[in-house]
Amino acid sequence: MPWAELVGHETARAALRRAVASDRVAPAWLLRGPEGVGRRRVALGFAAALACPRRAVAGEAAGEPCGSCPSCRRVALGTHPDVEVHGREEGRRDLDVAVVEGLQRFLERRPMEATRRVAIVDEAERLNEAAANKLLKTLEEPPGHAVLVLLATRVEGLLPTVRSRCLQLPCRPLSAAQVDLCLARAAMPAQDAAWYAAVSGGSPGRALRLAAARARERRGGLLGAVLDGGARSGPFLEAARPEGASPTEAREAVAEALEEVARFYRDLSAWCAGPDVPRLRPGEEARLAARGPDGGRSLRLASEALAAARAIRANAGEEAVVEALLAVIHEEVAGEP
Ligand SMILES: [Zn+2]
Repeated sequence: MPWAELVGHETARAALRRAVASDRVAPAWLLRGPEGVGRRRVALGFAAALACPRRAVAGEAAGEPCGSCPSCRRVALGTHPDVEVHGREEGRRDLDVAVVEGLQRFLERRPMEATRRVAIVDEAERLNEAAANKLLKTLEEPPGHAVLVLLATRVEGLLPTVRSRCLQLPCRPLSAAQVDLCLARAAMPAQDAAWYAAVSGGSPGRALRLAAARARERRGGLLGAVLDGGARSGPFLEAARPEGASPTEAREAVAEALEEVARFYRDLSAWCAGPDVPRLRPGEEARLAARGPDGGRSLRLASEALAAARAIRANAGEEAVVEALLAVIHEEVAGEP
């Protein structure tokens, strides 16, 4: 992703731009700041700038990557041979010696395309003591082409000897307006974006995680109402309508809830077609899937739910439409009327 699209972190980016433009690049950097605030994007922009054959060389943008050449695109995709992100393995709580050995092997080899190799370390505060001590060797005698970028939320978690050998740059929380902009770019509807921006603590990543968690919770609530409410519309409408919504907003929310039910049945039909695509989430989804119909009939329920959403938007009675749909679903689900 081009650096130009990055929101905030002007201080850190200006320092990195100057280093790139003057070709005086410190071998080790430490980007510190809260989770989800954009540190990794800043680091990747820096790595892209170091590798980009078309980076800006003059003016205010000097040191910025072009963002569109094959080199920049591969950095963004994670496929550039001279840029690697190292982090925790799944299921592990810390970064151990094996992680550091991996990045040392990477940094010791000559660059393949660029003039430098950049290793980014996610959650560097989780380096265990042995790993941090091993990393010190790289910090004390870095290969001339090596650039190490540590990302950390709590610098106190890092050995002082590691910290002191890095150039530290702060990545501070963004303003609500900046988070709002990031969320708009992530295609979040404006009124949701304003709310999540306000509660995000200046972290777009956190806002997106909160939104995803809330969407999962809502989907769970809706599917639970489908499963347990029988053919009664009450529990479903209650789960679908946001508190304090106007009648128009509530109607739209019911239509969206029906679309969510349609998505569930579409997923279920895909799941029936092959055991591993896509995986159903545990909880209500698994409960409903266990009693759900087979693939073909799931698709039929998906289209019934979409038709119900269209009817709601065309001003049909909400109770009647939802009750009719639930009756169809319950006929299919284990033959319960
Ligand atoms: Zn480029």
